[in-house]
Amino acid sequence: MAGEPQADCLFCKIVAGEVPATVVRESQTTVAFRDINPQAPTHVLVIPKAHYPDAASLAAAEPQLAVDLLLEAGEVAAEENIVADDAGPGTGYRVVFNTGSGAGQTVFHAHAHVLGGRGFNWPPG
Ligand code: IMP
Repeated sequence: MAGEPQADCLFCKIVAGEVPATVVRESQTTVAFRDINPQAPTHVLVIPKAHYPDAASLAAAEPQLAVDLLLEAGEVAAEENIVADDAGPGTGYRVVFNTGSGAGQTVFHAHAHVLGGRGFNWPPG
């Protein structure tokens, strides 16, 4: 059933506490934890506790849960002191949903990357 935990899903195992993670925030519906291979001084993943393979399927099935994810991403940014203040490189942050293996998605449980603490290029690599 949509949203149910998947036995072979790494992030479902983190939600269940079966795989350790450095959790920085938890809500009723989401968990935020540090990426194991950080690409920036702040690199936190925000995931729904429910299993959806990517952000698009999450938003289609449970729009409020997709909103929860974005709100939690904002809370992470505030706690990490990376909110935008127009002071140039190293301020502001990026929220990324890699969607599909061609776009770099490797874990097929929806997640927002919250990246900050350094400057970013555009277009992204
Ligand atoms: P994706 O490539 O957009 O799917 O992002 C998956 C992310 O999960 C990558 O940035 C990985 O470094 C990260 N990751 C993989 N395994 C773990 C883990 O056990 N704990 C925390 N982050 C992980």
